[in-house]
Amino acid sequence: MADDDAAGPETEARGPKGDDAATMAMETDVTSVPEPETTGAVSEVEDGAPEGSDEPGAPEGGARSAETGFGGLGLSERSLRALAKLGYTEPTPIQCGAIPPALEGRDVLGSAQTGTGKTAAFSLPMIERLAEADQGRLRGLVVTPTRELAQQVERAIRSYAATTEIESTVVHGGVAIGPEIRALEWGCDILVATPGRLLDHVERGTADLGSIEVLVLDEADRMLDMGFIDDVRRIVAETPSSRQTLLFSATIPNPILYLAHQIMREPMRVQVGLEKAAEGIDEVIHPVDRAEKHELLLHLLESRTEGQVLVFTRRRDTASYLSDYLRGRGLSVDDLHGGRSQAERTKSLQDFRDGSTRILVATNVAARGLDIRGIRHVFNFDVPDDPRDYVHRVGRTARADETGDAITLMSPHEWLMVRDIEKLTGEPIERRSVEGFEPSIEPLAAVEEDEEETSRPRSRLTRGTRRR
Ligand code: AMP
Repeated sequence: MADDDAAGPETEARGPKGDDAATMAMETDVTSVPEPETTGAVSEVEDGAPEGSDEPGAPEGGARSAETGFGGLGLSERSLRALAKLGYTEPTPIQCGAIPPALEGRDVLGSAQTGTGKTAAFSLPMIERLAEADQGRLRGLVVTPTRELAQQVERAIRSYAATTEIESTVVHGGVAIGPEIRALEWGCDILVATPGRLLDHVERGTADLGSIEVLVLDEADRMLDMGFIDDVRRIVAETPSSRQTLLFSATIPNPILYLAHQIMREPMRVQVGLEKAAEGIDEVIHPVDRAEKHELLLHLLESRTEGQVLVFTRRRDTASYLSDYLRGRGLSVDDLHGGRSQAERTKSLQDFRDGSTRILVATNVAARGLDIRGIRHVFNFDVPDDPRDYVHRVGRTARADETGDAITLMSPHEWLMVRDIEKLTGEPIERRSVEGFEPSIEPLAAVEEDEEETSRPRSRLTRGTRRR
């Protein structure tokens, strides 16, 4: 059995893509997908408003949450105590929208951007249900695309279940399977897993999914992108059809919608926000020549940043090169990507989380779902080739009401990719050159567009004047 993440959860080798831009997918009419085996009407709830409610459901504006906080969602005293301990006072929109129907036992198809509190939105109802009876038997399953996300989700579940007897464990590729087998033999109520390793356990007979009551598919669109969708189908087939299914995805492209219709029963659709970066993030693009990006990054890191910094690169070798380069200049830096062992990945993330490393250079392995408080700056050393990754990357800063900035270094040949990002988010990003680092050529695509407009033959490259 191939280990999931074996090639690292990178986007370098992408699987089949969801159909179109995320925003379009959000508006997809459910009747436009092919007739699934089992269909169900999808009740839609915008911005987390409970079905049948006039209230928007957001903590700021939603009368329901503002008046009653978590108490109004139908959670037990036990869960409320766990939330109080964590310092959560108001539910987020996705929590307002997803918790009540999930507590009723309904399937939920949730689309929420990263950092919106969706882990609690699916975990709390699952914990409530499983805490009722029969503890020590595997009845809850959460499937996530990456190892790091699996670890994070399992940690979160432990904190949400702190006032119960519920036990959870995590299995994922890249680590020895023996300790996982022993943990599964010991018994747990909730298992968090990446797809390949989970199927490995199923085949070995060390994980039995025959008594799963609640199945959560987290970051489903990312699993689709990473080519895990067939594994996901196999996992679903191992679980009883009587289960409750909660499917969460930042975007709902047609293949995910189709999957949802096949595996869910009359899911309540809960949709929060459009595909754009979270509030509180200052975004800027610095045009710069490719060959000067590393010097500009060093300059900005030294002169304009304080606190934790996450730097994204498209490729593993760039991440590792940049990390060496910055370390050589005396900065506190580490790198995280699929080319490193799982032990190294876990350690570099832990060092970054606890602040012993200030700068983490990472590929998209760290773009999705990872929740690290206190990241003040996110740099895109490369413009991501999938515009949705931009949204996920910049979402690593300004978590939970903090503020932060997202700085993208754009070389002339990356102009088109930036244009795709702006199309997706619907908002232009400010371009600002940094003195001494102005690019020597105009963006290629800009020149090409000019040519289309004027229909006059011109040179592809228009040389600008360097002001250094
Ligand atoms: P998630 O989107 O599940 O990764 O959550 C993002 C961050 O928000 C995590 O640090 C959670 O602990 C935090 N969080 C989730 N729900 C709430 C809430 N209702 N109030 C305050 N923080 C929350």
